[in-house]
Amino acid sequence: MRARFKPALTGLAVVGLALMCGLGSTPALAEEPAKQLFGNTPLPAATEARVHGFYSSGCIAGAVAMPIDGPNWQAMRLERNRRWGHPDLIALVQRLSREAAADGWPGLLVGDISQPRGGPMLSGHASHQVGLDADIWLTKMPNRRLTQSERANTSAVSVLKQGTLHVDPAIWTAEHAKLLRRAASYGAVERLFVHPGIKRAMCDAYGADRGNDRWMIKIRPYYGHHYHFHIRMKCPADSPNCRPQDPVPASGNGCDASLDWWFTSEPWTPKPQAPGTKPRPRREKTLADLPNACRGVLRAPRPASESLATYSASFDQVAMIASAVPIADAAPARAALPGLARLPIPADRPRQ
Ligand SMILES: [Zn+2]
Repeated sequence: MRARFKPALTGLAVVGLALMCGLGSTPALAEEPAKQLFGNTPLPAATEARVHGFYSSGCIAGAVAMPIDGPNWQAMRLERNRRWGHPDLIALVQRLSREAAADGWPGLLVGDISQPRGGPMLSGHASHQVGLDADIWLTKMPNRRLTQSERANTSAVSVLKQGTLHVDPAIWTAEHAKLLRRAASYGAVERLFVHPGIKRAMCDAYGADRGNDRWMIKIRPYYGHHYHFHIRMKCPADSPNCRPQDPVPASGNGCDASLDWWFTSEPWTPKPQAPGTKPRPRREKTLADLPNACRGVLRAPRPASESLATYSASFDQVAMIASAVPIADAAPARAALPGLARLPIPADRPRQ
């Protein structure tokens, strides 16, 4: 008996030692891809809002959720849990939804913002890491509440004419142009990203008037961005550790040779590989690549809520996550969503 018991004890000790080493070793955590750490954290850091780092390399504490529904918006792809942003950005998107409605855009379909604590994502997006970037669909909101499955599965519609670099006049409307004009007009907006064909359409609509230059220059042509456009906010005043982007040019409206370049073959032709070089595999970003403060953001406590234990289905889960953060006040359409009546009603305005 004794002889057989001993090896078992030794085995346990070995397992214990291995566990201790594995759990306690900081290098292992430091080498884990940052996207795993941030992508698997379901709730924000319950602190004051603070942005750390750059749009494509950073994190955010104290993010708040864009409510699933509001009078003039619906959030899409809820299962991704990427509706989190700096309170100023959430307020700005809500303001845009109201003012765009007055311009004739029936409501925003809100796509990805950031993860609860920002950081790199498990899929898509180089930026969206600091709660200051938001994707808004270029599809008008229908005048009914979408179901969970519609929000997960409905495709956005490209505004481009198939096979061309230009907007399709059968899809692109004056209201699209007014929506972008409105978004770019906000002082807190750093820039918008749109497809070059959309920038061209904006130049055709508004480029002749020099009085439009200050907001027109903020509309930046880029790859993709013909199913949605991307709003980027400036660093908020509460976040000295937020690294700003180089400002847009101080003069002009961007309806110039820099836009014409996008309609040449150059930006669309893959660069030939220099002979003898191998493509370098992209290294996964780790915590060491992000601002130091992001370690603290990951470790910070989440908002207290007794409902946390009841997370189950993703739709409810997302709703619970949103409800765990004080967002206050009311929006009328909530009752239309099955199973959500017991949850706090989403807000027209975010927490101040
Ligand atoms: Zn985006």
